[in-house]
Amino acid sequence: MSSIESLKIDLKDLKEGESLLEFDLDDGFFEAVDAPDIRKGNLHTVISIHRTDDTFQLDFHITGVAIVQCNLCLDEMEQPVEAENRLWVKFGEEGSEDDDLVTVDEDEGILDVAWLIYEFVNLSIPIRHVHAPGKCNPAMMKVLEEHSASRRGEEEGEKPVDPRWATLAKLKD
Ligand SMILES: [Zn+2]
Repeated sequence: MSSIESLKIDLKDLKEGESLLEFDLDDGFFEAVDAPDIRKGNLHTVISIHRTDDTFQLDFHITGVAIVQCNLCLDEMEQPVEAENRLWVKFGEEGSEDDDLVTVDEDEGILDVAWLIYEFVNLSIPIRHVHAPGKCNPAMMKVLEEHSASRRGEEEGEKPVDPRWATLAKLKD
């Protein structure tokens, strides 16, 4: 998973009350988390942490852009990101995994937020994300149009699959 040291927060070091952490993350972040869906981007992440004894309330505010694959033409596109997420962390036995409550071993006291940030960004991206009208890759749009045209006239049995379409279908998987 992540090898970004700055994103490993030492909770034991945090004072009672409010702490503010800020990170600027670029393509290297997405490479480090080995992100399956987003390969590049630029994110400004602010984490405000409120500590009460051994419980931490974390508020993530993530803004920037993520580079994702357009659903239509499969080219890269910039998806604006604006995510607000809250999470609680407490010291204790590992294993009580809840979506909003993370348990961190007290002896270690380290919370790696890299994957959390990635998940929050990923969740903020709409399921259907496409280029603005007219901004799709024209060559790919032509292939898609030809394909749907040939589909329409293809009632009489199997035709060999257009190799470009086969490539496209593979990419979409
Ligand atoms: Zn597109």
